[in-house]
Amino acid sequence: MPTPWDKEEFDRFERDIQRQRRELRAAGKPEAEIGELFRKEREKEDAMLSSQKFAGKVGAFEGANYEAKGYYRPEVDCIMFTRHKAFCAVCRRAIERVIGMYAG
Ligand SMILES: [Zn+2]
Repeated sequence: MPTPWDKEEFDRFERDIQRQRRELRAAGKPEAEIGELFRKEREKEDAMLSSQKFAGKVGAFEGANYEAKGYYRPEVDCIMFTRHKAFCAVCRRAIERVIGMYAG
């Protein structure tokens, strides 16, 4: 069971990942090393998001459109938010409706 999310700890982690990424790029390190850093970041994001009280539920979750405040996404996690998981239920439904409109 993942531990509950601590925003300050997560923000520190994200800043550290960004610093490491800049250092790797500045040092001309191979993409495999940068890829490993992305893998670590995803693992932490997945653990943090899946530990949220309303993970997997549809609602209004602040933080979307590349902004931390003022924009809302329909689920805690969605590929539109993390860029590495699946579409949430709301996105899936919208995509299905558009496909249905053209295919139907
Ligand atoms: Zn979505």
